[in-house]
Amino acid sequence: MSRWTGPFQIRRGMRLASLVLALLFGMLAGAFATPLEGRDFKMAGDRTHVRVVISFNGEPDPKFLLLRGPHRLVIDLPETRLAIEPRDLKASGLIKGVRYGQLKADDTRLILTGRGPFRVDNFQVVKNETTPGYRLAVDLSASSESDFEAALALQAETTGSTSATAGSDHVGQAAGQSDGRFTIVIDPGHGGIDGGAEGRNGTVEKDITLTFATELRERLRAGGRYEVFMTREADEFLRLDERVRIARQHGADLFISVHADTINLKGIRGATVYTIADKASDAEAQALADRENLSDQLAGMEIEEENREVADILIDLIRRETHGYSIRFARSLVEELSHRVGLINNPHRFAGFRVLKAPDVPSVLVELGYLSNARDEAQLQSAQWRGKAAASIAEAIDTFASGRSGAGG
Ligand SMILES: [Zn+2]
Repeated sequence: MSRWTGPFQIRRGMRLASLVLALLFGMLAGAFATPLEGRDFKMAGDRTHVRVVISFNGEPDPKFLLLRGPHRLVIDLPETRLAIEPRDLKASGLIKGVRYGQLKADDTRLILTGRGPFRVDNFQVVKNETTPGYRLAVDLSASSESDFEAALALQAETTGSTSATAGSDHVGQAAGQSDGRFTIVIDPGHGGIDGGAEGRNGTVEKDITLTFATELRERLRAGGRYEVFMTREADEFLRLDERVRIARQHGADLFISVHADTINLKGIRGATVYTIADKASDAEAQALADRENLSDQLAGMEIEEENREVADILIDLIRRETHGYSIRFARSLVEELSHRVGLINNPHRFAGFRVLKAPDVPSVLVELGYLSNARDEAQLQSAQWRGKAAASIAEAIDTFASGRSGAGG
């Protein structure tokens, strides 16, 4: 059964995802004095009620957020470090999992995962009576799915009006909303110093992806139904995370990265559609993702990895919701392409592509064909063939957008 039953709720889910990010990066902007220290994590209770207590050496300023799929309580502790061994984070009763991560330097996020829907009965910072310091006490009790949904809805209303991070141009900022039309960001792979693959007859991947993306954009715009943007419109280098940022800042409902790579086996040809996964579907998909992910290194601009843990936590939190949509679109894209364009065996594959990591934008990477195959290369140079491929993608977008809000009217 689908968790979301209508476009309105889908929108809200995505908006919540943006808010989580906005909240996080808003916090990153602050810089204060010595962080507080949290210690002595205690959780007690049963399947219907649980109390969590954390002690602090000063007064903390915690905020919480609910997330579903699974039901989670996210506690953000700005300017706070937790001196708690992960193994001491014992979950019990209603809560089946606890973990925390450093958001940046001194900001900590704690995540409690429920066994089912719950209600936050109490979330309070209390000054200790007999010893120095403060404690955070949280009481949770089992509730119904509809109670949890109602709390989520309330949260979306209230956070929506108070947590805007004005002035920030961080990737985490909730992307500007367009005029409500379904928004597509097309990402021509490679560019600038990163040429991508080269064909046997001299075709360069970065050029063919730009040509194709531009043609696809014009086709989509001509229909008047979508907002369409590109991550680059010229022969320029863009970091992979930059491409993701552009998609998010346009408030993209769909992100399509366009490629045409090479493979050692000259006989292999046809289009492939990729979605993200931690574990690759096959060795070729893994190798391809590795090559694509090298792009940043090629230009000596590799992403700083210091916030990797943060990124992982966030992606884990939000990607689940998005991932289903990526897969849905990928399937419909494979279906449409199969009518007009040759596909490889098992044309929907997956691997850890960095450029598909926008946690709140359904994203796919399309390999139009292999430049290592002479016939594929010739097709990619044919405007007629590109027109067929673009038409297929447009049809798949129509199908996908019809099932989402902001389109079809
Ligand atoms: Zn590529």
